[in-house]
This record gives sequence, C-alpha cells and structure tokens, in this order.
Amino acid sequence: MKKLAVIVPCYNEEAVIEESYRRTREVLVKLPNPTEIIYINDGSQDKTRSLLNSIAANDPHVKVIHFSRNFGHQPAVTAGINNCDADLAVIIDADMQDPPELIPDLLEIQERENANVVYCVRKSREGESFFKLFTSKAFYRVMNYMSEVHFPLDTGDFRLVDRKVMNEFNRFKERGKYIRGLISWVGFHQVPYYYEREARIAGETKYPISKMLKFASTAMLYFSKKPLRLATSLGFISVLVGIILAVWFTLGKIYGFSNAEVGWTSIMTSIIFFGGVQLLTVGVLGQYVGILFDEIKARPEYIIDEKRNYENE
Ligand code: UDP
Ligand code: MG
Repeated sequence: MKKLAVIVPCYNEEAVIEESYRRTREVLVKLPNPTEIIYINDGSQDKTRSLLNSIAANDPHVKVIHFSRNFGHQPAVTAGINNCDADLAVIIDADMQDPPELIPDLLEIQERENANVVYCVRKSREGESFFKLFTSKAFYRVMNYMSEVHFPLDTGDFRLVDRKVMNEFNRFKERGKYIRGLISWVGFHQVPYYYEREARIAGETKYPISKMLKFASTAMLYFSKKPLRLATSLGFISVLVGIILAVWFTLGKIYGFSNAEVGWTSIMTSIIFFGGVQLLTVGVLGQYVGILFDEIKARPEYIIDEKRNYENE
C-alpha cells in the first residue's frame, strides 16, 4: 500500500489549525494507506507553533517543520516536499479552502488513471473578494500568454503528486520557485480534477497584495523571457517610428510640405514617450538582473529551526 503524506504550509493559522487537523485526520484514518501530515510552520508569530507542537506530541503521524522566520508560502511547500519520504503527497492549504474530504477522490483518480499528478482546478471560489477573483483570473491568463510552457488555468498548489514527481522536484536548484508551474513543467501523466473552492474557515488571508505581487513576478520572470522580447520589440518599433519621422521631416524641409515652426508639443511628446520606453525597458532588464543576483548568491530557500517527529528516520 502506498504511503500518503499531506503537506500543509501554515503562517499565523492559530484560528484554523486545530479544526484543520481534525478534518484532515478524519479523512486519513478512513484510508487503507499508511498516512502522515507534514505541517510547515512558516515563522508564525501567533500560537501556531505551540498548537502544532501539541498536535505532534499526541499524534506520531504528524510531522512538524518550524522555519526560523517567515519565508513565504512557496518555500514552505518546497520544504514539505524536500522533507517527505512518502510515495504520494497532497499539497493543501491550512485554511480548508481546498477541502481535505477530496483526498480520497484524488487517490482514486491517481490509481485509476495511473497518474503522476492529479491537479485540482477551481470550478468556483467561495468567499473571495471581487479583486482577488479578477486578479487571479487575469494572472493565469496573462501567465499562459507569457510563458513558454502551457499551464492549466485556475489551478493552485492543491494537487496530488507521486514519488517520481517529487524526486524531480527535489532536483530543481532555482530559489524562486513557482511550484504549480514547475510541477506542470516536469511532465509525466497529469490529470485534472474539478472542484469547488470553499471559503476560508477562519482567520484572514495571509496573501496581502505585496505577497501576491511577489508571487506573480516570480512566476512571470522565472517562466518567461517574453517581457525582454516585448521590451526589444518596443525599442524596435520606436526606432522605426523615429526613422520614418526623420525621413518625413527631412523631405518636408527639402520639398517644403512640412511646417517646421511647429516645435514644442511634438518635441515634448517624443521626449516623454521615448524616455518612458527607455525606463520601462531598463526596468524589465533590471528585473532579470535582480533574479541573476539572487540566484548567484545561492542562499538557501529556507532555514529550519526545528523538526518534530522526524527522529526515527
Ligand atoms: N502561507 C504560508 N506563508 C506565507 C503566507 C501563507 O505558509 O507567508 C500559507 C497559509 O498559512 C495557507 C496557505 O499558505 O495555508 C495559503 O495562504 P492563504 O489561504 O492565506 O492565501 P489565499 O487562499 O488567501 O490566497
Ligand atoms: Mg486561503
């Protein structure tokens, strides 16, 4: 029987963690498979740490990894996969937006289709703001246009992956990880599963705009060189326009069809326009240089403070 791990990143989730554990446990005990839950405490400042420790003290099938500070959702999931020895793993959020009750379905599909990945596609999303829904819809579509790889739309990290995929994932050396993209990129046999995403059971989102932007830019920059190409096209177009205008004005001067006195507005417009184009292009370039800088430093993606229930391995 294949061993199943459930990987749960948690950041300041004191409001949901016990309920989340109870519901997940309830699902897992009914399975014939050996199971475990791996909680990654991503440097929470609330009671999450002590709550997780007491859960782990009472249940040897619960493993806990405490980070030394908040590193973010993607590093937390990465640590979960890196520290998992199970044959199958389900990645799930602590807030129960992705119901753990679906895990048996995922297992069944995996078995029936002999799939390496079962990724969950959101048919609907409860309890999210219009802003979140709109930006998320837009993000996945822009991402698909920009990226060199095709991604399934409206898919989060909620998915089941097998050992083969985890082994490949563990070989990725890049620090900026867009996990749903990487898992899709790995290939093998990937099967969709459609579900209704629920509202958070308690607490509030741990993804403020700043984190959403960081997430989106990592996804974009690590999976696409299109912004660079667009910048080049923009430069190319402005050079072309410049040449045409120069020829036009020169001919106008010679043949007298251009009114040379008109000056200020057109000069200002072109200065502002080309200034903008240049700054934008340099900015895009800067983003990629920034990534090179981060990657070349090769710092660890996360730092573990303490692990629980990993002793007998
Ligand atoms: N999370 C994390 N570190 C962070 C932010 C979030 O580990 O810095 C976890 C969080 O505890 C949750 C999951 O990532 O289990 C998804 O976060 P959240 O539900 O707040 O995001 P949303 O569903 O609002 O996009
Ligand atoms: Mg959530």
